[in-house]
This record gives sequence, C-alpha cells and structure tokens, in this order.
Amino acid sequence: MKLVRTIASARRATVALAPPRILVPTMGALHRGHVALIEQARRRAGAKGTVQVSIFINPAQFGPAEDFTRYPRMLATDLRACRSAGADLIFAPSAEEMYDIHRSVSIAESPLSTRLCGASRPGHFAGVCTVVAKLFNILTPDAALFGEKDWQQLVIIRRMVADLDFPVKVLSHPTIREADGLALSSRNAYLTASERAAAPGICAALKKAAAESPTPAAAARLARKLIQRIPGARVDYVEGVDASTLASTIRTDRPARLAAAVYFGDTRLIDNIPFPKK
Ligand code: AMP
Repeated sequence: MKLVRTIASARRATVALAPPRILVPTMGALHRGHVALIEQARRRAGAKGTVQVSIFINPAQFGPAEDFTRYPRMLATDLRACRSAGADLIFAPSAEEMYDIHRSVSIAESPLSTRLCGASRPGHFAGVCTVVAKLFNILTPDAALFGEKDWQQLVIIRRMVADLDFPVKVLSHPTIREADGLALSSRNAYLTASERAAAPGICAALKKAAAESPTPAAAARLARKLIQRIPGARVDYVEGVDASTLASTIRTDRPARLAAAVYFGDTRLIDNIPFPKK
C-alpha cells in the first residue's frame, strides 16, 4: 500500500495502478462502515484491480459554524485500517494542496441539494460535489463507492456523474450499524454517555414508523413523534422521500427512504432506511 500526499504524486501513482480502479472517498476517522466499503471495493476490484482510498477532511463542505476544526484526525490509525482492508493507494492531501487560494470555479447543484441535509447545511453539497469531481479527475477511478448512510449524497453524486459525463460507475454499500442499531459515524465520538445511550432511538423510531405506516409521508409523521420523545434529541428533519428525486412522497409504488437528521447537543446525526422496510 502506498501513501501519496500531493496531486502530482497521486497522478503518477495512479498511472501504475491496474484497472479496474475503485475509489472510496472518506474524511478519515475510519470505522467499520468505511472498512466495509474498502473491503467491498477490494472484492469488486478483484486480484488484478486496485483500490484507492482518499482521506481528506474537505473544508469546502463544512459551514462556518460546523465541526471542521474538531473533526477527528487520526491518519496513522486510518492507514492501518486501510492496509488490513486491502487498499492499494491512499491519497491524503492537505487543504492547501487541494484548494488553490485563487480558485474561482466550483460545482453547484440544485434542486436536490436544497432539501433534507442541504436545507440546514447551505453549500454542503456544492462542497461535496466539487471535491468528488476533483478526486475523480486526479485519481481517474473506474468506479467509486459511497455509503447509503449518506443517501442524499449518493443521489447527488449519481446525478453529477450522469449530468457531467464522468466515466465513473457509482456503487453503494448498505449502512453499517452498531449492535444497538446506531449507524456508525465518525461524529458518534462527540456524543456524551447519555446521548450515546439515547441515539439508537433514531433508528428504532425509523424502523417502527416504516413498519407501521401506510405511506412514506405517514411514516415520517410517526417517526418525528417517536424521535421527539427521545431524551436530549432535537429534530432537524424527518421525511419520507422518493429514493431518487428526494421529494416528499405518499407513493408506495416507487422506492422511498425514511430519513432523519437529529441533534444531540451540538452533534448532528443522520440516518435513513428503505420504505417499505425490507
Ligand atoms: P465520511 O468519512 O463520513 O465522508 O464517509 C465516507 C464514506 O463512508 C461515505 O460514502 C459514507 O456514506 C460512508 N459511510 C459512513 N458511515 C457509514 C456507515 N455507517 N455505513 C456505511 N457507509 C458509511
């Protein structure tokens, strides 16, 4: 496994990597969810292909009041996890390497990015799209793997690839959870002991609501009620949305997702499950 920290060295190293090249973009602080993605990339790349992992805490996707400065940074531990999961190339650039101080071009998306997480995180998905486009240009992967935990991100990246003709296949991986149902997230480390004990209530509420409701919109109403009862929880949104348009929906003949964002103190957790519950 090779670590590169500059765009020029990433390009040089990539030329030598046999296709299919499969990229797993991350912000580091790797947990079992990320590891599952890297392992799936390894399986899909096969013995001949190669697995690229980017580790970059992208300042462009954090708002001014968000957790960019305190986001966990642990490159040495992350490199060990990447190695044992089967990665071949790690690209871990600095912010200065990725963003020229004179930059003036970025990728905008609308309307998908104005809803759900985008409504409370203006500019977030423009930052995500811009960095993913840059990673695609630098690392020229044949495929890239994203987690279903960030469903809106997955949908927007699929649109970006289709709309801007990136020759990259977008793959997804189901959400990896703790035994008590809490979706793994690097931000779970921010939770106090009592918040951590309450947080699995989000997933439990989504599951119960999806199982007991006739439509995605009705499930969202029930899930909101249940989440509001969780000690310390403050709802950002709970919505039943079409799985590809992300519009609120009462339709049951198309794939839908029941999605929530919930604050515990300053920590914002997101989760989503399929509707109807599989
Ligand atoms: P992040 O480091 O949070 O930007 O996440 C990097 C990738 O890992 C994204 O595609 C996420 O959707 C994915 N991911 C994060 N948490 C999980 C999880 N619990 N299960 C599956 N994928 C995840």
